[in-house]
Amino acid sequence: MKMPALFIGHGSPMNIIEENNYTRSLMKLGKNIPKPAAILVVSAHWQTRGTYITSAELPTTIYDFYGFPEALYQESYPCPGSLQTANRVQELMQGEVSFDEARGIDHAGWAVLKHMYPEADIPTLQLSLDVRKSPQEHYELGKKLACLREEGILIIGSGNIVHNLSQLDFSSIYGTKVYPWAAAFDQTIAELLVNNDHASLIAYENLPYANISVPTNEHYLPMLYTIAMQAEHERLQFICTDIQNGSIAMRSFMIGN
Ligand code: ZN
Repeated sequence: MKMPALFIGHGSPMNIIEENNYTRSLMKLGKNIPKPAAILVVSAHWQTRGTYITSAELPTTIYDFYGFPEALYQESYPCPGSLQTANRVQELMQGEVSFDEARGIDHAGWAVLKHMYPEADIPTLQLSLDVRKSPQEHYELGKKLACLREEGILIIGSGNIVHNLSQLDFSSIYGTKVYPWAAAFDQTIAELLVNNDHASLIAYENLPYANISVPTNEHYLPMLYTIAMQAEHERLQFICTDIQNGSIAMRSFMIGN
């Protein structure tokens, strides 16, 4: 069975311990799609020179966030890894990926998976973002991995379409107040997604409010991996369209029929 491909906005680590519209949408999603043989997360929180993949048999939980309530650090995600899947990715990427046996799962992965698969019983791997690659090159790399969907592997790009930490509004996690530029950029991206306009999504820098919505692109790029996996005529469905903290788009979507 062909697995869907997902892009999930992960937002604030506070979502790990909260229950809200966004976390409920992830819980529902985990129950509604076929159980994957393995999960590969393209992580906004792992930037490297060259592309890396986790290859540990038992990856650790990485707490790559600071100054949050103690309760977050009590959580963990003890999922297994999968060397077999890492080998398969290396094969598909024709040696263009290196193994990192020491690296664990960062919160771009486990903050999402904690809600989707709380049992942590599915082998999970993460793929890094090569800082030397252009948006087009990230997209091309995603295409090389698309066939993993036919092998029962769930691919999740984890980032955020709008991600501006300098503009965060802490009084408003649930979107009562949203910056107009954040809403406008998010809406533009939504329309391009619905129209399968991959070229414009790759050239996002030309869109209105791109500078303020995507001040650095590591949270945007994982989305290009997800859209690269869209076959012709394949459906795209939004899972969540919330904006949290005024400037973090939680817009998440699924590709697949
Ligand atoms: Zn993040």
